[in-house]
Amino acid sequence: MNMLRPVSPAETSGKTNLCGLSRDELRAALVAVGVPEGQAKMRTQQLWHWIYNRGATGFEVMTNVSKDLRALLAETCEIRRPEVTVALKSEDGTRKWLIRLDDGNEVEAVFIPEDDRGTLCVSSQVGCTLTCRFCHTGTQKLVRNLTAAEIVGQVMIARDALEEWPSPADGRLLSNIVLMGMGEPLYNFDNVKQAMKIVMDAEGISLSRRRITLSTSGVVPMMQRCGEELGVNLAVSLHAVRNTTRDAIMPINNKYPLEELLTACANYPGASNSRRITFEYAMLKGVNDSLDDARELVRLLRHYDIPAKVNLIPFNPWPGTAFECSDWDTIHAFSEYVFEAGISAPIRMPRGRDIMAACGQLKSASEKIRKADLLKAARPSA
Ligand code: SAH
Ligand code: SF4
Repeated sequence: MNMLRPVSPAETSGKTNLCGLSRDELRAALVAVGVPEGQAKMRTQQLWHWIYNRGATGFEVMTNVSKDLRALLAETCEIRRPEVTVALKSEDGTRKWLIRLDDGNEVEAVFIPEDDRGTLCVSSQVGCTLTCRFCHTGTQKLVRNLTAAEIVGQVMIARDALEEWPSPADGRLLSNIVLMGMGEPLYNFDNVKQAMKIVMDAEGISLSRRRITLSTSGVVPMMQRCGEELGVNLAVSLHAVRNTTRDAIMPINNKYPLEELLTACANYPGASNSRRITFEYAMLKGVNDSLDDARELVRLLRHYDIPAKVNLIPFNPWPGTAFECSDWDTIHAFSEYVFEAGISAPIRMPRGRDIMAACGQLKSASEKIRKADLLKAARPSA
């Protein structure tokens, strides 16, 4: 047995966690612990409201549920979020949580407050199989899909921290969700879909699909389903406008080249001038940042007739990366060129740098700290 493996209470409690179940699963779970069939529908409604509208973490507050049933539920079930091991707040208000899952793996969620909205960046996998060369997540060896409960859990953790229960009708702190954390959400579509359906449910957290954006590196065969079955906004990690360059920095381009990707974007259900597809473009010095690249970007978006906006992201360096961020003037010139062609291309300033809010960085830092601690512990004391 590996003595260092963290054991969370969940592994020993043996209770059914109701948080993250779909309505059907919740109903089945209630019946399984002894709720009579005849009551199952009503109890599911009640529990759903308590868990997702009110943010209940225990059964004692559920005053419209009989005392006996509350006792039964407390004995057999729980309403649990994954464990937060580090919670940070940046000078600019950005918050970040390092979250430990029941098997000891860790993911991150980041909350970014702005004047008119508050966006939670959610992870969909532990690590990522896609190894985009500029991305730190792609260097992490361990990869597994998150469960729906683990994805919803990130939203619950943020809402707990923001004290945003019950779900407010408007003026929300957490008003938007982006699936832009660790992992490729379209490689874990079923769980992402279940989690987002829970988040969108009108009797629970009730976040509109128009306020949810899924970011993909370009898993072409799943894009249509994403639009049809979830109807969320789409963001595409483009990062290059020529197949040779994109092949080199994003291996998935070898499988689904630009022509196929852009055709899928043009056909994305629900995309329109008022619901544009976002193209993310990390500015990599000498790789994708020339005016020729900007020209080709504009040409492609026009050619495929895609209602588009472009987000220019100054490359966020990490230890060991071969890339550098483009010069400031270059980024500005690129942005201006695209803007002048009539396509919005703002420069997205990285937020929360002081808490390592960029993808994957807090997790790596925490691993380093832990390794240092272990080394210290292993050393005989003086
Ligand atoms: N796997 C999905 C979701 C991650 S989204 C996707 O790739 O779309 C995170 C966004 O940040 C992506 O656009 C990703 O390409 C970009 N990104 C990754 N590493 C970056 C870095 N070091 N600097 C700037 N942007 C980066
Ligand atoms: Fe994975 Fe997205 Fe990072 Fe590429 S950019 S390695 S797809 S998380």
